Amino acid sequence: TGAHFANDLVARIRVCVRKRPLNSKEINRGEKDMATVSGRQLAVDEPKVRVDMTKYIERHNFVFDEVFDSDSSNEDVYKRTAYPLVQYLFEGGKATCFAYGQTGSGKTYTMLDDKQGLYVLAARDIFITLRRPEYTHLTAYIGFYEIYQGQLYDLLNNRKRLQAREDGKSNVVITGLKEYQIINVQGLMQVFEYGNSARSTGSTNANADSSRSHAIMQIVLRDGTNNRSVEGKLSFIDLAGRERGADRGDTNTKTRMEGAEINKSLLALKECIRALDQDKKHTPFRQSKLTQVLKDSFVGNSRTCMVATISPNNSNSEHTLNTLRYADRVK
Ligand code: ADP
Ligand code: MG
Repeated sequence: TGAHFANDLVARIRVCVRKRPLNSKEINRGEKDMATVSGRQLAVDEPKVRVDMTKYIERHNFVFDEVFDSDSSNEDVYKRTAYPLVQYLFEGGKATCFAYGQTGSGKTYTMLDDKQGLYVLAARDIFITLRRPEYTHLTAYIGFYEIYQGQLYDLLNNRKRLQAREDGKSNVVITGLKEYQIINVQGLMQVFEYGNSARSTGSTNANADSSRSHAIMQIVLRDGTNNRSVEGKLSFIDLAGRERGADRGDTNTKTRMEGAEINKSLLALKECIRALDQDKKHTPFRQSKLTQVLKDSFVGNSRTCMVATISPNNSNSEHTLNTLRYADRVK
């Protein structure tokens, strides 16, 4: 897959890895950093970046389109992940940026952190661009919903149940989704925070504040002179954490069922992205609600950027390896 590593920031699918720093608790427990990120000094014909997981005596090496080390800021990540998608949005494209990883690895911090997540940085550039004379006919709208246990809930409208369907032009339409027109970053953040407070959260053994749902925040550009037609769509997805309920001593049936549903949808996501990369005729979109609603971001001229987030500490290395293997297979 050599060509895959071309430095093409708007490749159809980009798979990036972001490593978070060890936190003070982990440092106080004497945990070690197991993930080494390298790349800058490699020969030009070699893949640019790699993650090296050293576990006991076994070594695991993975190569990705892009790897962000623990000292990288959201701005650094943004420039090489979502920013090219913002540009693509203004060419009328559909694009999706999502975070995948274990609970506590930095998915929310990367995508939907309320102060400086990638969505805020993208919004900043979207509103700057919308001020250009050639875009005065366009208006930005935000929609925000979640997928919980295979059902869609509108986070901006009292968790109203929603249905996904397809229009004749293979666009996915979330029927009844409430959209708010937004004119600046503060407005977007306000609407976002309102929706975020309506999200489903539960407690798992891994993290008391773990999110058990996939949250999808989309910014849609509509043409006011053309019946508000969709002229571009950029989605940010904060995926539910992959958990292994059954083998983690979850005695709670609800938690276990949530975990099974989450794992099913993440598996379907991987299969769809792979099928797409291999230009397969049949893509199993129907296998989960997640892939059903993301369908139009995966077909045609769409762009997808995945940020796999990893925790570097040794007690999480099994999870980290699973994340890296998942991301590796998506490529
Ligand atoms: P997840 O959404 O994957 O469960 P979070 O985004 O909530 O994980 O991150 C867990 C904790 O780690 C949070 O306190 C967050 O602020 C912190 N964190 C995550 N990624 C980073 C990072 N790259 N740099 C600094 N702190 C981080
Ligand atoms: Mg989270």
